[in-house]
Amino acid sequence: MSAERKILIIYTGGTIGSVHDPMNGSLVPIDFSQITRHVPELNRAGINMDAVSFSPPIDSSNVNPSHWMNIADVVYKHHDKYDGFVVLHGTDTIAYTASALSFMLEGLRKPVILTGSQLPIGMPRTDGRENLLSAVMLAAHPNPKNPDSDRVEWGESTIQEVAVYFGNQLFRGNRTHKESAESLHAIVSPNYPSLVTAGVEFNVRKHNLYRAPEGALIRHNQFESKVAWLPLFPGMSLELLERVLCWDELRGVVLGTFGSGNAPDNNKFKSLLKHAQSRGVTIVNITQCGHGGVKQEMYATSLMLADCGVISGGDMTTEAALIKLMMLLGETEDNEAIKKGILKDLRGERTV
Ligand code: ASP
Repeated sequence: MSAERKILIIYTGGTIGSVHDPMNGSLVPIDFSQITRHVPELNRAGINMDAVSFSPPIDSSNVNPSHWMNIADVVYKHHDKYDGFVVLHGTDTIAYTASALSFMLEGLRKPVILTGSQLPIGMPRTDGRENLLSAVMLAAHPNPKNPDSDRVEWGESTIQEVAVYFGNQLFRGNRTHKESAESLHAIVSPNYPSLVTAGVEFNVRKHNLYRAPEGALIRHNQFESKVAWLPLFPGMSLELLERVLCWDELRGVVLGTFGSGNAPDNNKFKSLLKHAQSRGVTIVNITQCGHGGVKQEMYATSLMLADCGVISGGDMTTEAALIKLMMLLGETEDNEAIKKGILKDLRGERTV
């Protein structure tokens, strides 16, 4: 090999780097140096690694937009210096952070691979070791420029997007969802196929990979937090809906609908939506189903949502829709531009 690949690991916390607190038995995050002690193979991978760490490392339930900005800043500043980035993150909100990073880093040409684990890295049956090792190796995965040559010349990175590695699969980050609190295959990508399956070899599905349009790396940093996620349920009080929709600072809502995007079509519900929309609240329709997406033209109970100004979220996950809405609202007050942005596929997050 003519050159070593250089990877930067960004350790934020989560179960992967936790130990049991002897005082009360709960899991608390430890230092990055203690993590590598458990994975000596990292030193034999032939990859040059540096690491930066959140201080202190955190459980991902505590993650908020300021943490997304910290991670995006590190990637942005070091984009040209490293071949790839690995973000060690708690699994609870990994899908939100992956979505946020994908939207924040427009024009990304390097892999940013998030991973974590269900069992701490020091435990005998941990999934953390394999997840960490494979994430690092995928972040370093190159396309050899000339595979026939003895002297390997690295081409561009195979992965050039924000992705999540978990349970032998690499998924597009803004398509992921945490499905299980127990399984070692806890992260799923309900509406987009896996990018890579890790078996004896990495099976890279080239046609599934994202490539950014030509252009420089641009960082987006503004998020609007005056948004709500409103999953509907039969028997739901319209008063609750009214109170949320009438919040005078509210700017956006992800409506969690039934099936292919359906909702009750009674007049009170419709007038609440219309009123919110007319005062500038952006409302996005996302199904509560685990797979598939919204087809607002399919039933009368969804077609009426379009009449109320509700925008179809297509097959986006709730996580991606919320973060995309927060970012678009943070960047502009132009409702038409926000609507266009929601309907557009910005980073491979929705099928158009
Ligand atoms: N509570 C942990 C976290 O999200 C769970 C995990 O890492 O799997 O930080």
